[in-house]
Amino acid sequence: MNSALAHANSFRDENPRAASLGAPEEERAGLPAVNLLDLDRDGLTRFFTGLGEKPFRASQVLKWIHQQGVVDFDAMSNLSKALRRRLSECGEIALPTIVLEQRSVDGTHKWLLQLACGNRIETVFIPEEGRGTLCISSQVGCTLNCSFCSTARQGFNRNLSVAEIIGQLWMAKQALGEKTQITNVVLMGMGEPLLNFDNVVAAMNLMMDDVAYGLSKRRVTLSTAGIVPAIDRLARVSDVSLAVSLHATDDAVRNDLVPINRKYPLDALLQACKRYVDGARRKVTFEYVMLDGINDSPAQAKALARLLSGVPSKVNLIPFNPFPGAPYRCSSTIAIDRFQEILQRAGLVATRRKTRGDDIDAACGQLVGRVDTRTRRHKTNAVHPS
Ligand code: SAH
Repeated sequence: MNSALAHANSFRDENPRAASLGAPEEERAGLPAVNLLDLDRDGLTRFFTGLGEKPFRASQVLKWIHQQGVVDFDAMSNLSKALRRRLSECGEIALPTIVLEQRSVDGTHKWLLQLACGNRIETVFIPEEGRGTLCISSQVGCTLNCSFCSTARQGFNRNLSVAEIIGQLWMAKQALGEKTQITNVVLMGMGEPLLNFDNVVAAMNLMMDDVAYGLSKRRVTLSTAGIVPAIDRLARVSDVSLAVSLHATDDAVRNDLVPINRKYPLDALLQACKRYVDGARRKVTFEYVMLDGINDSPAQAKALARLLSGVPSKVNLIPFNPFPGAPYRCSSTIAIDRFQEILQRAGLVATRRKTRGDDIDAACGQLVGRVDTRTRRHKTNAVHPS
């Protein structure tokens, strides 16, 4: 069974309303409405067949919601009046709401979104020559506690639902308007996407579905700190581009920077990356945050080239973006240049990420939203209260 189907099934199991859609009206009364934004094509097909409708209703409704931006059932003119009424009784289209929109001097947009539970997440749009990248969040906060990332300081509340993940793309598309195209989506905002596996996969299915956003698999990138078993699971159900936050060339340094490395050390991580690109997939992108005196020496550049020699890869060097209380400094321009040159001389494709949107705290690792943490961490470490 593919994961979208599994998702649809688990959705029905967890949602009595969906499970009872075939039941008489009076038996359904009082059950919460199904948020249609939570369903990818398979899930929505099951929803409609549960209502006794034809499966093609799923494509019709996906087009209305995701292509036309229509969230009012009454405006869905190719559905019968009776079906529209039925949908408004048992379904809803509920989106996160925009609390704040900021625009950087470099054209980067950042939205602060309010979720129903009171938490807030952030979404960023980065326009570049010939493309526009949307960076979306997958969790409220994060559990991984990477020492150079400000999201880590916020603690963790919960996984985002499919609706809250795809809702970020829906909202950005509407807010940017027809003239500004979102050509790429990266799951590089708040959270660890592979720890919210089913919801992230269903949302990515919608991003790539021709009746929704129609992005190619090359233009949807999932970034992970390295949850090894979930990388293998992803390989079985999806073809999206994979980015891995590497940041170090030996386990001692990586244990400090990315504590999940204690559970899934470098060797196991690189083997999983190799397995992911085995077959038809392209290269893995390795992200490497440049930290002064920590991971930026010429010897470490050479070690990185050696480490990646067996993996089809490219390296993206990310200048460290500081935040209040951060225990690191960004590497000097000279150190970054030298590091990049060593990688390139070793035959690797090594690019350098331009810092964007830092004047509005929209750069990598600066996204914090507002997290009502369920962990104890933020009581001692809170930054950016909002
Ligand atoms: N959990 C996922 C996705 C979120 S982080 C992951 O670890 O990949 C997205 C990217 O931003 C990662 O490569 C992360 O290492 C990087 N990043 C986090 N904090 C940063 C900071 N302060 N400066 C620069 N990059 C940072």
